Amino acid sequence: MKHHTRASLAIAALIGLGGAVAQAPADGIEAHLAAAKTAAGFDFTGTLVRLCIAPQTAPGRDVAPGPAPARDTWITEPAKVFDNLYFVGTKIHSSWALTTSDGIILIDTLYEYASDESIAGGLKKLGLDPANVKFVIISHAHGDHVGGAKLMQDRFKSRLVMGAPDWDSIERSVNQYPNGKPKRDIVGQDGQKITLGDTSVTLVTTPGHTPGTLSMIFDVKDNGRPLTVAYNGGTAFNFVNDVPHFDTYIASQRKMADAAARANATILMTNHSEFDSAVTRIRLMAARKAGEPHPYEIGREAVGRYFKVTEECAQVARLKLLQVSAR
Ligand SMILES: [Zn+2]
Repeated sequence: MKHHTRASLAIAALIGLGGAVAQAPADGIEAHLAAAKTAAGFDFTGTLVRLCIAPQTAPGRDVAPGPAPARDTWITEPAKVFDNLYFVGTKIHSSWALTTSDGIILIDTLYEYASDESIAGGLKKLGLDPANVKFVIISHAHGDHVGGAKLMQDRFKSRLVMGAPDWDSIERSVNQYPNGKPKRDIVGQDGQKITLGDTSVTLVTTPGHTPGTLSMIFDVKDNGRPLTVAYNGGTAFNFVNDVPHFDTYIASQRKMADAAARANATILMTNHSEFDSAVTRIRLMAARKAGEPHPYEIGREAVGRYFKVTEECAQVARLKLLQVSAR
């Protein structure tokens, strides 16, 4: 496993360097930016802006979370989005409940301040019992996705699944969990299936956004029709901005693009509405006429373009670093 990862990183580094040698860096940057814009079109403007126009350039510090923002700024209605997938997120962050024949798999848990009302309360509003959440898969250990993990573990005895390096980062953190940390539970592995009853979520390790970021492939049903979701677990560049970190990130985006294509995914989800327009798509469902596609069903080609945006913007950032170091 470790060997394989190193090999793919080395290949990614070679491909990246090949691009830089073939063109002057400035031209390379412009070419990658143009490719990102083309791939984004009008589908992924939020992702394009965050990664290519105004990217973050450093990790957050190990500090306590600030005070909860005003409820009006984040609260939104929970919703049934597919036959077996329910949105229990906020206006900004997503949390998804995948129902199975033997309980619920929850994906991501928002900030701590939102988790009780939006997840536990949201599930109840939708007629679902939060005590039936058997697994909680956390894409990565940042406060906006791991915030409700402890609540689910303590109150509902849900099993938590997270990447090993992100479990480590929780344990290392001094200040980020003033109300207690979730206890280390299941370590998500590449290719592992988290199975509950008739339903499985396949984990794809995609280090980059954090070292333990987990992406996912799973099926949903739209009026009985099965569709496949590619769930990208980490997006922004708020990690140590150096060439090796961008090489890792780029390799993971290619890996997930490949996994999505092999699974024939026609739906792209992330954990921020900024990137997948979750809240807007859910609102669009009210205007859906019989026979029209689901607002989340964007097609295989568009799913592929999403991963092109993330990769190309990372190439831009990577070449800018090389340009700085060549001065
Ligand atoms: Zn994050």
